[in-house]
Amino acid sequence: MSTKDFVEKDYYKVLGVPKDATDAEIKKAYRKLARENHPDANKGDAKAEERFKEISEANDVLGDPKRRKEYDEARALFGNGGFRAGPGAGGTFNFDLGDLFGGAPPPGGGGAGGFGGGLGDVFGGLFNRGAGTGARTQPRRGQDVESEVTLSFTEAVDGATVPLRMSSQQPCKACSGTGDKNGTPRVCPTCVGTGQVSRGGSGSFSLTDPCVDCKGRGLIAENPCEVCHGSGRAKSSRTMQVRIPAGVSDGQRIRLRGKGAPGERGGPAGDLYVVVHVGEHPVFGRKGDNLTVTVPVSFTEAALGGEVRVPTLGGPPVTLKLPAGTPNGRTMRARGKGAVRKDGTRGDLLVTVEVAVPVDLGDEAREALEAYRKATEGHDPRAELFQAAKGA
Ligand SMILES: [Zn+2]
Ligand SMILES: [Zn+2]
Repeated sequence: MSTKDFVEKDYYKVLGVPKDATDAEIKKAYRKLARENHPDANKGDAKAEERFKEISEANDVLGDPKRRKEYDEARALFGNGGFRAGPGAGGTFNFDLGDLFGGAPPPGGGGAGGFGGGLGDVFGGLFNRGAGTGARTQPRRGQDVESEVTLSFTEAVDGATVPLRMSSQQPCKACSGTGDKNGTPRVCPTCVGTGQVSRGGSGSFSLTDPCVDCKGRGLIAENPCEVCHGSGRAKSSRTMQVRIPAGVSDGQRIRLRGKGAPGERGGPAGDLYVVVHVGEHPVFGRKGDNLTVTVPVSFTEAALGGEVRVPTLGGPPVTLKLPAGTPNGRTMRARGKGAVRKDGTRGDLLVTVEVAVPVDLGDEAREALEAYRKATEGHDPRAELFQAAKGA
């Protein structure tokens, strides 16, 4: 509201109170007039609609001690206080009931019914007139939703279809989201339906806070709905089957297009983001697209070479040719036995050999090993180590 508004409009006259009226008198006068001229009680009456706007605007200023003081000062400085509110006077209020639910879908999911011809249109028609936004009739995309899922190691590698329970805030069905038992809430007199009150500063520099009286809803329920206790909101949950693609890894956030909240008025659905947690496997590990496994081999297999059977995840075992003289800890590659990639191909299985030292030796084995010791007496396995320790 500009200084010009302040000078031209006699808010005291609008509310029918004297200039020295108390706050309580102003509040009382506003309530009476707002009730009489409320759009719900005067459907299609353009004059009542205009009056309701003026009354709201007047209360917006006179109902706030700080703004009232500014108004009085402005008029004392500039004006004669003539009352000349013509067509188009008054502030623009952007009141969109849909905003109360953060873009949640209407009850029943349909565009028609629900809010379509209800309270939202009454207020939308009233406050959005002339604003030129037309926001209420445009399709709105549904909200993005985030969820979590825990998969087993194997499910993450192969992909899985998992049930996902999702809850969202929706308008209460019993009261069509109004919070009022009869579906006729009162516009909050404190914030005049905007859900916000200005604080501090002056003129265009004022700050706004959510209105305390209506908790930012802009509406007050005289007869609170018994289902939602006046909040106008209902928690709804649905379970849907979600396909998690093969090859996801722990901590990955995947996006499922169009699986979020439904859109409004024909708008597209939002997306669903799923954060994936992957459980451990007792044998296999993951390194990107590759799987890992540690396979014990005997000393003779490592020294003499041999064929070693290696388990794979969900498939038949593969046979790995171990060359003679394979050192402990060497990693070998079984191609195409890893996790599924995006393009459908598979990564590899990385096989790390671990030489197993026997704990219990039979007599025959012990004798054979003693003979082996004798045969290799001339070889010191630590000769190179000590050489290297001396140098450099
Ligand atoms: Zn309020
Ligand atoms: Zn309700």
